[in-house]
Amino acid sequence: MAIRNIIEEPNEILRKVCRPVLKVNDHIRQLLDDMHDTMIAADGVGLAAPQVGVLRQVVVISDGADGFIDLINPEILSTEGEQTGEEGCLSVPGRAGIVTRPMKVTFRGLNREGEMMTYEGEGLLARAVCHEVDHLKGQLYIDIMTEEIFDDEEDQ
Ligand code: ZN
Repeated sequence: MAIRNIIEEPNEILRKVCRPVLKVNDHIRQLLDDMHDTMIAADGVGLAAPQVGVLRQVVVISDGADGFIDLINPEILSTEGEQTGEEGCLSVPGRAGIVTRPMKVTFRGLNREGEMMTYEGEGLLARAVCHEVDHLKGQLYIDIMTEEIFDDEEDQ
């Protein structure tokens, strides 16, 4: 178990475009394991490799239960509908904003065995997938939020 340091905005690493993974090997599996640990320790629902300083197309997302969806070289294949709601990011601590995302997404990526897997997600999962895939392009939700949320009650 290894918890990696989460890079925070405005570090320029977060603005780089990530390169695809050419081979899913033990090095990548170690990265995935560390990202799981880091995400849990930070109480997040998703984490992208650039957030831990690795400029590769690797993402982990909570499956809504106790597990993870590991996505290597992820692609969003199609989207449906729209949802507008609150979003935050482990790399943008203490802030939140309103972001419109698709309600449903069909997406695919390689799993930790290097097999191509296709998934469908809606609601929070659809939001998380879009958010994490944006990270791989150097984009943050604060670029597209329509409104920043200021919560006086929040103890940050
Ligand atoms: Zn994020």
